[in-house]
Amino acid sequence: MSIGPLAEDAVDSYREAGEILVETMTEARKMIEPGVTQLEVAEYAEDAIHESGAGLAFPVNISIDEEASHATPARDDDTVFGDEMVCLDIGVHVEGYIADAAVTVDFTDNTELVEASEQALEAAIAAVGPGVEVGAVGAEIESVIDGYGYTPVLNLSGHGVEQYDAHTGPNIPNRAVERSVELEIGDVVAIEPFATDGSGKVREGATEEIYEQVAEGNVRDRRARNVLEEIEAFDDLPFAARWLEGSRSEMALRRLKRANLIKGYPVLKEDDGQLVSQAEHTLIVTEGGCEVTTAGIHRFD
Ligand code: MN
Ligand code: MN
Repeated sequence: MSIGPLAEDAVDSYREAGEILVETMTEARKMIEPGVTQLEVAEYAEDAIHESGAGLAFPVNISIDEEASHATPARDDDTVFGDEMVCLDIGVHVEGYIADAAVTVDFTDNTELVEASEQALEAAIAAVGPGVEVGAVGAEIESVIDGYGYTPVLNLSGHGVEQYDAHTGPNIPNRAVERSVELEIGDVVAIEPFATDGSGKVREGATEEIYEQVAEGNVRDRRARNVLEEIEAFDDLPFAARWLEGSRSEMALRRLKRANLIKGYPVLKEDDGQLVSQAEHTLIVTEGGCEVTTAGIHRFD
């Protein structure tokens, strides 16, 4: 059935992407344990998604402790999980229609920090419906996280998704905002509260493993041209440096960045170096409220 302006095919694809995400997330999170490499978990999830016949909306993100977003293992990365707070964020697409969801796996005994972002997500979802301002959704998030004595990460927000576009409007703030955009039937949005015991702001770190093509064009350097050809297969969606063939693609990536053909996503870290938890779902706004396409990964689902 179509939902508002969304065609039946699009709705089916959003649902299928969500189902594949939930299956993958369920298995991948079980693998996360101290001593296991991050790369093993990321590659397991990425392979499972491909084997399901779906595509990756972005590289599997594994963010540790003060990292909030845009972290993914490097090529041949042998970093293992420790007694850490681990955010696992997965993006799947079917025919370009995207599911984006995240869970936090905690080995630091900060159960309440994890609960804070999960409960904030549950409250946000309960508030969603046509005609509801995104600022009112943000107010729910802020109020729940405040109630736990933590701070939402204010300069990260949820977002719309569209075909082959993992980050579009509307922005879903993680705090109360007055006079904001109203949600409409057929909007597909990812809501993602982040909770921290730090300042509530993230800044860019030094590591950069995720990129995205932003323009068409040519480069003279042969190796950069070959890498650009490889990148074109990613449909303008974010990709990981480790996905590129050959271990000497880093120089090519730098050249492509200088030519403004790709952009990088540096890892985002909590400004005070404090722990960050994250909970995320993708949902379709419906007449009666919303349909969560990624349901089955959080305790409240
Ligand atoms: Mn996400
Ligand atoms: Mn997201």
